[in-house]
Amino acid sequence: MDDLLTKENLEYRAMAREIADKHVRPVAAELDRTAEYPWTVVRALQDAGLMGVWIPKEYGGRGGGVMNLCLVVEELSKACGGVGVTYAVNALASFPIIVGGTEEQKQKYLPDVAQGKTLMAFGLSEKASGSDAGSLTARAEKRDGFYVMNGDKKWNTNGNSATLYSIFCSTNPDRGGRGVSAILVEKGTPGFEIGKKEDLMGIRCVPVHELHFNDCYVPEENLLGGKEGHGFKHAMMTLDLARPGVAAQALGLAQGALDLAVEYTMERQQFGQSVASFQGIQWMLADMATKVEAARQLIYACARAIDGGAKNVSKMAAMAKVFATDVAMSVTTDAVQLFGGYGYCKDYPIEKYMRDAKITQIYEGTNQIQRLVIGRSLIKEAAAGQPRTQSAEA
Ligand SMILES: Cc1cc2nc3c(=O)[nH]c(=O)nc-3n(C[C@H](O)[C@H](O)[C@H](O)COP(=O)(O)OP(=O)(O)OC[C@H]3O[C@@H](n4cnc5c(N)ncnc54)[C@H](O)[C@@H]3O)c2cc1C
Repeated sequence: MDDLLTKENLEYRAMAREIADKHVRPVAAELDRTAEYPWTVVRALQDAGLMGVWIPKEYGGRGGGVMNLCLVVEELSKACGGVGVTYAVNALASFPIIVGGTEEQKQKYLPDVAQGKTLMAFGLSEKASGSDAGSLTARAEKRDGFYVMNGDKKWNTNGNSATLYSIFCSTNPDRGGRGVSAILVEKGTPGFEIGKKEDLMGIRCVPVHELHFNDCYVPEENLLGGKEGHGFKHAMMTLDLARPGVAAQALGLAQGALDLAVEYTMERQQFGQSVASFQGIQWMLADMATKVEAARQLIYACARAIDGGAKNVSKMAAMAKVFATDVAMSVTTDAVQLFGGYGYCKDYPIEKYMRDAKITQIYEGTNQIQRLVIGRSLIKEAAAGQPRTQSAEA
């Protein structure tokens, strides 16, 4: 389906593919084993100018939008799902500035993010506040030109490699979700500490940390958008833009696993012939490939709708995320099956795809939550007397 991609899309994809082939695939197993951050890859992405793909041109980025972001994430994730998210989380954490930041905040922070000089992380979740994000308890109180932050964040992807953090906290606990605000916190701010690193099942090269705030004084100009109480709205707008990126991570993993499965089953001999020559195996491969292509088309359609200025993208972004990530789990699991016993061993790269795929069904809103978003949209549209066949309204 390459004919639907623009010349620009193909260029981004080719650049990312080259980096994946040269810098990611050869070290993917080692990164998984050591759980080390892929600095070499990040430097290659910086050199290629890919760190600012999604950032508007007026702030030093390439203005490539969500579609080109997805293409880069897909290519990186085809080689390593951990590297894919290492990259994509910069988009997740910088989208709040793009959608809700003041002009000064955009000018101050986005150019360095676009160049990859600043790596970012996104802090919404807490120990007791996951799916119910509006119940967060981290606090920020305004005092003498500062916000004084107290509380803890859990599951911060890029936790210790980032230098700038979009942190969601309550500036008015009496207002619940409407009292949530986002604050931009720079690494090294006194009172801000990076805590425990999680020992993950998959995506092991990306550091996921707890964050702690103890009387952390952040200048009041770091309140995102300059107004309190808009944090939850900014978080939801961000997730609408970022979920196609998680879907693209899942797509890359599924495609990467499928490619390996085709290659392996063509080589593996049983009963005097390649296992790929058995119809039962071909049917499995056919179903895997069909699911992968369906996921791809849904993600690209969603990304194009977002870039085209569609207004109501929550349902479509949730559909792309839930479909592609469920596909990734099923395709990577089937790929392990096609490798037989060898699929269950670390001598072969395939089991890592299955471990990496699992998280895509969990973060940026679990797939149960995506289904809630889709279901609620359907009911809302029907109640408004406008049942729709697609959610992205131009
Ligand atoms: C590796 C990793 C990286 C992460 N990175 C980040 C990050 O960078 N920034 C960040 O802010 N967060 C991050 N997260 C957090 C992630 O987004 C949450 O784990 C996720 O939103 C789920 O929250 P929870 O773990 O508290 O599960 P819970 O909300 O406790 O859910 C437990 C189970 O109940 C289900 N459930 C909950 N509510 C409902 C409902 N209403 N209907 C049906 N089912 C429901 C869930 O789907 C899940 O199956 C990360 C998590 C992990 C594991």
